[in-house]
Amino acid sequence: MRSLRIAAIGGDGIGPEVIEAGCRVLEATARADGGFACEFQGFDWGSAMYRASSRMMPEDGLRQLEGFDAIFFGAVGAPDIPDHVTLWELRLAICQGFDQYANVRPTRLLPGVQGPLREELGRQIDWVIVRENSEGEYAGVGGRAHRGLPLEIAMDVAVFTREGVARICRHACEIAMSRPRRLLTVVTKSNAQRHGMVMWDEVCAEVTAQYPELTVDKMLVDAMTARMVMKPGTVDTVVATNLHADILSDLASALAGSLGIGATGNIDPSRQRPSMFEPIHGSAFDITGKGIANPLGAFWTAAMLLEHCGEPRAAGRLMAAVEAVTGRGEVLTPDLGGKATTAEVTAAVIAALAGANA
Ligand code: NAD
Ligand code: MN
Repeated sequence: MRSLRIAAIGGDGIGPEVIEAGCRVLEATARADGGFACEFQGFDWGSAMYRASSRMMPEDGLRQLEGFDAIFFGAVGAPDIPDHVTLWELRLAICQGFDQYANVRPTRLLPGVQGPLREELGRQIDWVIVRENSEGEYAGVGGRAHRGLPLEIAMDVAVFTREGVARICRHACEIAMSRPRRLLTVVTKSNAQRHGMVMWDEVCAEVTAQYPELTVDKMLVDAMTARMVMKPGTVDTVVATNLHADILSDLASALAGSLGIGATGNIDPSRQRPSMFEPIHGSAFDITGKGIANPLGAFWTAAMLLEHCGEPRAAGRLMAAVEAVTGRGEVLTPDLGGKATTAEVTAAVIAALAGANA
């Protein structure tokens, strides 16, 4: 039987709690499916390692991850270490080291979950936001001079390359083509940013022209925020820069009800290196160790991992189990207005998986 080799990096805070639950649910999904097995290897990288050795991961960390089919990642961040250190030295080190240039975030309002929009609008949310994950505003290029003086100057330079734009747009087109509505919105800000954003518009027009079955439209990012709130049903697949999609995807997850539910994939579409899947939430110090972290984000993440690894039937089965549990509205963690623990939600999803098999 096929065995998926999965690197599990819990990281910090509630990360290890939800990844542990996610691994158990992946095993239960594989059992229910019967067509494959999961083989996990855990890595205790993160802030504890940093305090002991000044490194968030070992020097040869990327080499250790190379041979896996996928990486299942929790969260990083600790109160006593600057966020830019934990982020750049672990999560971004993996994303950039493995050229996971597409950050893909599906968003839906799950059954039984109350979002902030009116019910009939909220139910229209069914989006995939495709974020450029390797360049743009987060290229790290810039500088600061004359610190503290009146003539102080600081710059963050947004760096866009023709191939960087073309490859993320192609990936977004492929995703849009795989969805029933075949609708892609290209988001930029080319009225104000007249170099990089104008190149985005041009390159995306060239790339999307190669997909005649797609319906393509173009939006400025500020207007896009209003459209997502006012007319959510007119949006399907969205492609945008690193910064713009960062903001749009947080808006999306808020409109879908809770930070504890969302999932994302950092994908290398060339499949030369493993891709990394993570719940969107952070390490949530305020609830760490209390046993009440919502594991549904990690479960949705696990479903994305299975889909990427060529097990779409199992991914569908897992999402159906998650939706059966949220839809009943009985076993929910406090962030969703319930009283259940991480362990109880995990047990409920595992039971739903077993039931779906009978
Ligand atoms: P956060 O996502 O950790 O928490 C925000 C709020 O949402 C908190 O009140 C938290 O309790 C709640 N929450 C988050 N996930 C939840 C879950 N699964 N179940 C129930 N409630 C949940 O964001 P923050 O507080 O801004 O950041 C905390 C730390 O996490 C920081 O160090 C930050 O840098 C880091 N962070 C990391 C990632 C990542 O690893 N990808 C993402 C975001 C934040
Ligand atoms: Mn963000």
